[in-house]
Amino acid sequence: MAKITLQGIAYDGKSSFMKGPAKAPPIIRHHYRSDSSNYFAENGTEISPEIFDDKGDYEPIEYFDIEHITFGNMNDYSKIITLGGDHSISYPVVKAVHQIHGPMDILHVDAHSDLYDSFEGDRYSHACPFARIMEEGLARRLVQVGIRTLSDHQRAQAKKFGVEIIPMADFKPNSIPDFNAPLYISLDLDALDPAYAPGISHYEPGGFSSRQVINIINGINTKVIGADIVEYNPDRDINGITAMLSAKLLKEISAKMLEIP
Ligand code: MN
Ligand code: MN
Repeated sequence: MAKITLQGIAYDGKSSFMKGPAKAPPIIRHHYRSDSSNYFAENGTEISPEIFDDKGDYEPIEYFDIEHITFGNMNDYSKIITLGGDHSISYPVVKAVHQIHGPMDILHVDAHSDLYDSFEGDRYSHACPFARIMEEGLARRLVQVGIRTLSDHQRAQAKKFGVEIIPMADFKPNSIPDFNAPLYISLDLDALDPAYAPGISHYEPGGFSSRQVINIINGINTKVIGADIVEYNPDRDINGITAMLSAKLLKEISAKMLEIP
C-alpha cells in the first residue's frame, strides 16, 4: 500500500493578526499519538503511524522555501498531507503538488475566502493564497465552504476567478458538489465555530460543528491527492480541544485518501 506523505510546515510569517500557528505541527502530532484516543477513523480504517511517510516538521526561513520543501518531500504521484502553519502555506504547497499532479479541484473549508489581491501590502499574506492559486491556474475548480466574511473586494475576486462560494448561511449537507480527481482539500480550522475550535487566531462565530466538517470529508467520493490543516494556534487553545480536533481531521482525511487510492 502506498504511504501518505506527511509534513509539518512550522510557519506563521504571513499571519496578519497574531502569531502562533508555527507552533502547531508538533502539538497536532502529539495529540494524534495521544493515548486518549485510538488510531481508527470512522470508516474503520486504522490510521497508525506506519501509513505515513513522515518527513517531520520544517521551519522555513523564506516563504518560497515551502514550495521546495514540499516538492522534495513528494515522491512521484504520492499523496501528501501538510500540517500548518498559517494559511499562506497553501499557495506554495499547492504549487508543489501541481508539479506532480497537474491542475486540481480544490475544496477550501474556511470562514474566509482568502482571495485578497494584496493584504496590508503583502500579496502572500494568509489572506491571499487563493488569489495566487487561481491566477496561476493551479486549480481547475475552487469550491469554498463555510465562508461568512465576504468583503466587496473578495466578492469581486471570486467572480473574476470563477470561484464557487457556498456561504455558511446557506450550507446544507448536500451543498458539496461532486468533484473530479485529483482533489485537494484545504482546511482552515477557523471554518469551525470558535466554540468547537478555540485554538485559532480569528474568531468568527456562526461556523461549522466538528460533526459537519467530518461529514463533509467523509462524503467525498473523489480521489484526494493532497490536503492541509492550517491556522491551528496553540496559544489560544483550551485543554487541547483544537489540537485533538486537528488530529481527528488528520485521521479522517487520511482514511479518505486510503479509501479511494
Ligand atoms: Mn484561511
Ligand atoms: Mn480563515
